[in-house]
Amino acid sequence: MNIANRIASIHTEIEQCCCKYHININELKLLAVSKTHPASAIQAAYDAGFTEFGESYLQEALEKVRSLRNLSIIWHFIGPIQSNKTRDIAANFDWVQSVDRARILERLNQQRPAHLPKINICLQVNYFAESQKKGVSVEELPELLELAHQLPNIRLRGLMAIPPKTDCFETQMNQYRQIAECYNHYRQRYSFMDTLSMGMSNDLSAAIANGSSMVRIGTALFGKRQ
Ligand SMILES: *Cc1c(COP(=O)(O)O)cnc(C)c1O
Repeated sequence: MNIANRIASIHTEIEQCCCKYHININELKLLAVSKTHPASAIQAAYDAGFTEFGESYLQEALEKVRSLRNLSIIWHFIGPIQSNKTRDIAANFDWVQSVDRARILERLNQQRPAHLPKINICLQVNYFAESQKKGVSVEELPELLELAHQLPNIRLRGLMAIPPKTDCFETQMNQYRQIAECYNHYRQRYSFMDTLSMGMSNDLSAAIANGSSMVRIGTALFGKRQ
């Protein structure tokens, strides 16, 4: 399948889902997850209308950011963050969705270049307390949200989550419903939050059905990663 066919089938799935669950398709953002794929693949997706791209590995991401500087791309960092990498992330990305601890938040705040707008942040929550997975715990989430809210160069946008992988639609629905409840709970306090980043190639529909505002699509758009 080429990228045009893949995009068509993504659009079909999303349209059917939005129709079935009475969701306004225009309020859903699609993030193209381009990690491991070359700049030429990003260019092709951009030409097809994608403007927001997600990367997980800093070195390869920086090369792509530099080589595609002439395009108006909004770059999201979505991978694990070591604290010695925050300066490059703060200088080169518009969004960071994988913030999971205070130290990272404080460094991004401090290292955000003054000529750039506040950096957009989603806190990654490890909602199901999986030991191998990154993310702030449900217990520590309130404190981290408050810190993100207070720091002057941070613009708190919402939450990002990656639930346990499963092919069972009912389980996907159940997991995403719980994450959405958590997000909606904190939106009572931080009503300006507008981003619930959940859903990947394998579980887009379940995430959208439960109120995702941004799905992060890698494989379904670019094909299998090496
Ligand atoms: C790789 C990745 C994705 C995309 O996953 P696919 O299953 O290929 O769509 C989404 N979110 C994060 C955080 C990722 O690391």
